[in-house]
Amino acid sequence: MNIPENKTGEGGVIVTKLDDLLNWARLTALWPMGFGLACCAIEMMGAYGSAYDLDRFGVIPRASPRQSDVMIVAGTVTFKMADRVRRLYEQMPEPRYVISMGSCSNCGGPYWEHGYHVVKGVDRIIPVDVYVPGCPPRPEALIGGFLKLQEVIRKETIRAPRAVQQIMAKRQAEAIAQA
Ligand code: SF4
Repeated sequence: MNIPENKTGEGGVIVTKLDDLLNWARLTALWPMGFGLACCAIEMMGAYGSAYDLDRFGVIPRASPRQSDVMIVAGTVTFKMADRVRRLYEQMPEPRYVISMGSCSNCGGPYWEHGYHVVKGVDRIIPVDVYVPGCPPRPEALIGGFLKLQEVIRKETIRAPRAVQQIMAKRQAEAIAQA
């Protein structure tokens, strides 16, 4: 068990911090929502397949946002889909994470200049934790994104939950904008 700062005794007792235990449990059981938007989703499906086997990282797709803690935005986010993507995100319980997969989701991709129908980055509608570059990124790149997300989760603490921090940051930004 890879829990940092642990101590094992003769009786097989492990002493560790609650933060480390919770973070270890979360980062080794990430359940992404099973949905895709465009061509990047094919690479995402490839990562779930037997050749790459994301299951070995504890990454198992779920069919409902209410059972998911990761959203992989794999593909082009059109304005028509943006409302749906945001609604799905809001249906996920906290703590929840977002991986933006591919150039389209990161910044609009090949539709950056003339794509009147494309959102120029999914981070304009939902907060993103990890960006995976490429058009399309290969399955290895998505696996790298999950490893990066694991590093993000490893640093979390229950003394300052992310959801509360995000709300406080939003209120602070609103207060600054009104001043
Ligand atoms: S980034 Fe490239 S591969 Fe991915 S959805 Fe956009 S056009 Fe398709």
